[in-house]
Amino acid sequence: MDFDFTEEQRLIQQTARDFAAREIAPKASELDKNGRWPVEIVKQMGELGFMGMAVPTEYGGAGMDTLSYALAMEEISAACASCGVIMSVNNSLFCDPILKFGTEAQKKEVLTACASGQKLGCFGLTEPMSGSDAQTMATNAEKTSDGWVINGAKNWITNGPHADFILLFAVTDRSGPKIKHTAFIIPKGTPGFTLNPRDHKLGIHAAHSCTVFFEGCKVPDSAVVGNVGEGFKVAMATLDGGRIGIASQALGIAKAALGTSLGYAKERKSFGVPIAQHQAIQFMLADMAVELDAARLLTWRAATMKDKKVRHSMESAEAKLFASEMATKVAHKAIQIHGGYGYSTEFPVERNYRDARITEIYEGTSEIQRIVIAASVLKG
Ligand SMILES: Cc1cc2nc3c(=O)[nH]c(=O)nc-3n(C[C@H](O)[C@H](O)[C@H](O)COP(=O)(O)OP(=O)(O)OC[C@H]3O[C@@H](n4cnc5c(N)ncnc54)[C@H](O)[C@@H]3O)c2cc1C
Repeated sequence: MDFDFTEEQRLIQQTARDFAAREIAPKASELDKNGRWPVEIVKQMGELGFMGMAVPTEYGGAGMDTLSYALAMEEISAACASCGVIMSVNNSLFCDPILKFGTEAQKKEVLTACASGQKLGCFGLTEPMSGSDAQTMATNAEKTSDGWVINGAKNWITNGPHADFILLFAVTDRSGPKIKHTAFIIPKGTPGFTLNPRDHKLGIHAAHSCTVFFEGCKVPDSAVVGNVGEGFKVAMATLDGGRIGIASQALGIAKAALGTSLGYAKERKSFGVPIAQHQAIQFMLADMAVELDAARLLTWRAATMKDKKVRHSMESAEAKLFASEMATKVAHKAIQIHGGYGYSTEFPVERNYRDARITEIYEGTSEIQRIVIAASVLKG
């Protein structure tokens, strides 16, 4: 596999790196401490084309490839993992499925607004009583003469408090041996669609999430995304792509933790020498660098396969599993290298540690990734 980046990919990477260093990194600690939604950064990311990176320009996107998206996601997430996931949800979990499964009208009206960053999307699959086993969702959409009536709740919806649209998954047929689901686009403000206050979490404090409710919420037939009864296919195809985004977010968190650790290890002295001269510290730095590189290769492979339109469920799961667990390990070592200061909120590595943890949970826990990978390897 060739990872000789094109001129365009290098440019995107550099643009994202410069933007993140200039506009995001100086605010990352404040965003985290105050749990402040980065309204100005979301706007700037839209202006730079980062909110719909792989969406064609005719639908408001930047017309780039998944590898460019992975490169940009790593840079943004290295500065602020919250900004990374806000971007990832809009790109991977909202724009991508509408591009793939949406009608022309949905692409013109909804995708164009969201890919260009003027509006924001979110993704509603998880429910209070069903997460990993999403097929067992309780949210129901009942057919009427002129549309659908939706009842249910979805929780942990990233971007939910600020999003203009939700891509919602609901059961539309329980009559057969297999439950059938359907995907819908629902604008905020639709009667019967309400939000809880935002969630309080261990990390990614600036990326707000919340529970959303649907009570007698009426939507027209034109809200259906893809075919009626095939919503689960939409959700699973979406997550194959989304996991590349989360793997890239994990790369960014680990890159930041390693970078800070390298600087600290050269400055901090013990027993008369910089701690970087102690072999124990060097070995930690070496392991961090190796694991980060390995995770990059898995992530870029999955991104390249997506661009080639080759089935990449297993490769995305491998990338997400390895990169997320790697990010936690790297951030853990980063705290160790910083000693007591690593445990202080004055240094960014404790934020990296808290932020890394979520990458092992959302868009499929590590256990679910292992199930996907095992099914693939057993099939041969
Ligand atoms: C901050 C945050 C943001 C999120 N954003 C979104 C979002 O935008 N949209 C959305 O739809 N969802 C979102 N989620 C939900 C997330 O995807 C789920 O939390 C995740 O899929 C796990 O589901 P669960 O929490 O219900 O855990 P459960 O499914 O109840 O799992 C609990 C534990 O059991 C394990 N487990 C479950 N089944 C198996 C099995 N068969 N074999 C082995 N182990 C198993 C799990 O791995 C886990 O360790 C978000 C979650 C968080 C915390």
